[in-house]
Amino acid sequence: MFIANLDQAPDEFEGHFVRKSSFSAWVPIMYGCNNFCTYCIVPYVRGRERSRSKESILAEITKAVAEGYKEFTLLGQNVNSYGKDLGLTYAFSDLLRAVDAIPGVERIRYMTSHPRDMQEDLIKTVAESKHICKHFHIPVQSGSTRIIKAMNRSISREAYLKLVKLIRSYVPDAVITTDLIVGFPGETEEDFQDTLKLLEEVDYDVAYTFIYSKRSGTPAASMPDQVPVAVKKERLRKLMDVQNVHSLGRNKRLVGKTLEVLVEGPSHNNPQVCSGRTDGNKLVLWPLGNKQYEIGSKVKVHIDRAQTWLLKGSVIE
Ligand code: SF4
Repeated sequence: MFIANLDQAPDEFEGHFVRKSSFSAWVPIMYGCNNFCTYCIVPYVRGRERSRSKESILAEITKAVAEGYKEFTLLGQNVNSYGKDLGLTYAFSDLLRAVDAIPGVERIRYMTSHPRDMQEDLIKTVAESKHICKHFHIPVQSGSTRIIKAMNRSISREAYLKLVKLIRSYVPDAVITTDLIVGFPGETEEDFQDTLKLLEEVDYDVAYTFIYSKRSGTPAASMPDQVPVAVKKERLRKLMDVQNVHSLGRNKRLVGKTLEVLVEGPSHNNPQVCSGRTDGNKLVLWPLGNKQYEIGSKVKVHIDRAQTWLLKGSVIE
């Protein structure tokens, strides 16, 4: 399961190591948030940012590797702020490099990364690393600078596009995904068109789309010009229609390529089919035949077909 937005994560994250599966684990590296996006309740309920010590994180991952875990997702509401509350000069990219160096760690993911705070050093670290997935989840929420400002997200559309360009300059095949909210208070048709244009410009692999809904106690809940539900639904439909074309297009570019896939086990829908995920978190299915694949092992899959949400192929080794 991929939680696009950590705001949806369960409270168990307030503990440490959380088993996602027998080979994959979530590792909270910090709690809380200082950002106060105007639609979000998290800073009010989870408090200000608190980072765990790097020693405790690295020890936990080392122990988990010994127990057979291979994939680690480092969690925080804004991982780019890691260590700032501790007064450390040790940045999130330093932590990533340290995890990358732990023998036995096969894949490293992280979320969530506020695009305003994503620095070149982090992108460079991902590009140069052996095990950090070349997947950048950078939630933009809207394509309109005016709406992004009303959301208190503190990044302009132009700065965001510059960031995308920088990511692609270091990692040309990067999988780039985002979160988008439609119908934020005051969102005009022109603002919405800016969001649609952003989808065209970035060519995201996936956009996780949400309809704005009021969270009481947040500034946005009492903002004027709330968007009617029918308009929000129509905008969401249009957004998904445009994004689906891009998701399919991005997946089609992988047809004919051989990708490394981490085995997750038989598909939930069809036990004759095995499933796994690429470095870019794309779901891949292939026929099991009479073979057995160890969960958490890596296989090479030749991609034969692409759909909007998944890839189909055949194992070549
Ligand atoms: S960065 Fe914004 S959306 Fe994310 S948890 Fe913090 S306040 Fe909420």
